[in-house]
Amino acid sequence: MRITAALSGKGGPAPQLVELEQEEPRAGEMRIRLVATGICHTDLHEHPGRHSPQPIVLGHEGAGVVEKLGEGVTGFEVGDHVILSGNSCGRCPSCLAGRPTYCDLAMPLCFGGKRLDGSTALCGTSGDAVHSHFFGQSSFASHSIVPVRTAVKMAKDLPLEKLGPLGCGVVTGAGGVIEALKVGFGDTIAVFGTGGVGLSAVMAAKLVGAKRIVAVDLDEQRLEMAREFGATDCIKGDEDDIAPKIRGVTGRGVDFSFNTTNAGSVHTLALDVLAMNGTAGFVAAPLPGKDGPWAPQMFAMLAGGRQLRGILGGDANPQTFLPQLAEYWRQGKLPFDRMLSFYPFAEIERAFADAHSGKAIKPVLLMGENA
Ligand SMILES: [Zn+2]
Ligand SMILES: [Zn+2]
Repeated sequence: MRITAALSGKGGPAPQLVELEQEEPRAGEMRIRLVATGICHTDLHEHPGRHSPQPIVLGHEGAGVVEKLGEGVTGFEVGDHVILSGNSCGRCPSCLAGRPTYCDLAMPLCFGGKRLDGSTALCGTSGDAVHSHFFGQSSFASHSIVPVRTAVKMAKDLPLEKLGPLGCGVVTGAGGVIEALKVGFGDTIAVFGTGGVGLSAVMAAKLVGAKRIVAVDLDEQRLEMAREFGATDCIKGDEDDIAPKIRGVTGRGVDFSFNTTNAGSVHTLALDVLAMNGTAGFVAAPLPGKDGPWAPQMFAMLAGGRQLRGILGGDANPQTFLPQLAEYWRQGKLPFDRMLSFYPFAEIERAFADAHSGKAIKPVLLMGENA
């Protein structure tokens, strides 16, 4: 079938719209007609080529409608509304424990650019190979072939065009707070970086009843947004003495920190501000060379019983947690849609530029009639 997709691997600052041939869904797969797809920083990082082979169709916050079922698919019907999350094998110990973001096969299944048998679902109009199955979706496209585990069914009365970011950015922040760190009523937390992930973490911390929520960012407007979403204390990231200021909010440091940045200096800070027995969660590794080599202060971790915790996809099981997040939205407790900016699919270059510059917190491409 002829589809429109945005292709990475031909240079340029953003994926370019092209016509591609897409094969029919194979056994265990479905074809999704995409309605919208969010743009996440992983897409920005992968566009020039990092982990995945090229040329490739990126995109991993897709939302759409089931259009065709491959052989053996059960539990879905044509016309179902779905959002797409990461791919996973379903059989390894992590998958069986309901933690599919730590699937043993996560790298080949999400970043391999093909199925495990080596095939791809896409090719150019003259037959040249194009990589697909990015996070099991490659959703910068009018249509996507997805393994059934990637799709999460959503209620039809929810606004589908808004839901894609639940599949990565929002679940990374909200799941990080609720599922991974298990922040609870009366706890204190500092969130570093208030982009889409950090703001989702702030909303979730408010939702669970955290007593003090400290937001740290360089951008005044984002801090203002963090305050609207529930931050009790906002600190500019370029101020002096940030660590003592944050520790001073509670007098003894915070129970949790949640770092969404890749700066080594912020990783240091996120450990420095912990109270005794505090846990520092992080969702991005320190970028090599950004501000020198980074190493945790082991004595402070030992003496305070502190923990450092890597978190992927909010530790969440998408099949149960994403509908739960949508329900929180419906109840007005997770207003993530306020950080979305919509762009017609054809304006993907502008959307990428606005994501890079920070002008848009969470750009969403509209593929369907809404574009
Ligand atoms: Zn992502
Ligand atoms: Zn697995």
